[in-house]
Amino acid sequence: MKVGIIGLGQAGGRIADLLAFYNTSKEFEGFTTFTIVFNTSKADLSQLTHISDKDRHLIGERLTKGEGVGLNAELAERIAKENERVIFQALEEKGGMKLDAIIVIAGLGGGTGSGFLPVFLKVLKMIYHEPIYALGILPSDDEGGLMAYNTIRCLKNIYDHADSIILFDNNLWKRPELSIQESYKYMNEELVKPILYIMNAGVVSAKRSFGTKPIDALDVINTLHGFTALGHAEIPLPKGISIFKKREEIDAATRCYSVVRNSTTGKLTVECELPDVRRALFIVTGPQKEVSAEGLDKARAWLESVTLNAEVRGGDCLIQGSDKITGTVALSGMYNIPRIKPLLKKAALLIKKREEKPKAEEIFRIEEGEE
Ligand code: GDP
Repeated sequence: MKVGIIGLGQAGGRIADLLAFYNTSKEFEGFTTFTIVFNTSKADLSQLTHISDKDRHLIGERLTKGEGVGLNAELAERIAKENERVIFQALEEKGGMKLDAIIVIAGLGGGTGSGFLPVFLKVLKMIYHEPIYALGILPSDDEGGLMAYNTIRCLKNIYDHADSIILFDNNLWKRPELSIQESYKYMNEELVKPILYIMNAGVVSAKRSFGTKPIDALDVINTLHGFTALGHAEIPLPKGISIFKKREEIDAATRCYSVVRNSTTGKLTVECELPDVRRALFIVTGPQKEVSAEGLDKARAWLESVTLNAEVRGGDCLIQGSDKITGTVALSGMYNIPRIKPLLKKAALLIKKREEKPKAEEIFRIEEGEE
């Protein structure tokens, strides 16, 4: 699959930058068509390392002096709307290249990414016919009401325009024992893992080849709808050559099945209820002799049973010389994400407080006898 990556705001920019790095790595070489980022903060843009200068766009300098919007998503949205022509041109320039889908990434609780995202989806739909996926970062509980409000506002504005909304929950993945920057670094690495395996479906290179049940871009496109959660698991392969060949064959099937099961029952990018899943995709990778057709069949049957008969697609991709079996799952077509409820509650409290504006006569009431 060939994807175009667009990073908005600080979180979006950092994750796009990491994907650009993996795009030049041996294992995931060449899965992106382009990577481009937009921000209202000059400082955030300058911290990126893998995206070329011409693909870093500073927007709204007249209003923000290049210092960001300070959690004001409404201002960011206004800036994006005022600069729609500039954004259109920057994105249209990339339009001539072959691609299967576009991923737009943003921290939903922040200002720039959250405010830009709905406008970008609208502009992208004018240029591209390919599916457009929003990859949204949910704020953690300790980040306050304004972050929750921005998140809900953004989700409401993009719900009908993104072909799927892939969620990553900082609350679930944050590492409070680390510094905030280290925690972000850890989370971003964990987030890009399943993205890399899924978006590399059908990509062949010197190290990668089609498996017995190949997966391609259409399998991914037919799976991603509504809200999506991703999962990933790995099992290291035993070192050395076993003399018990028969036993080894059985183990390969069990390993393939187990890695898919682990990817689904382990920590997902966002929590979900398996019976809510309507479409699912799994991908197993590993060296040829370790990927078993029997294991893939068993994995598919298991996924169908735990999702109560969701539409399940799945297959494998062979990676020469790999020392592990990986399983990656996309659980999709969902309309109920439990994590959204507490964010909605928090956002509602903020709105209530904002609207509690006393009337002038209540504030400036002159009491008889007061000095
Ligand atoms: P913006 O630059 O105004 O769009 O704001 P941010 O991108 O910083 O968005 C704020 C939200 O994104 C908060 O929920 C942050 O915790 C989260 N965030 C910021 N940077 C990162 C990052 O590198 N990784 C992750 N996972 N979350 C981030």
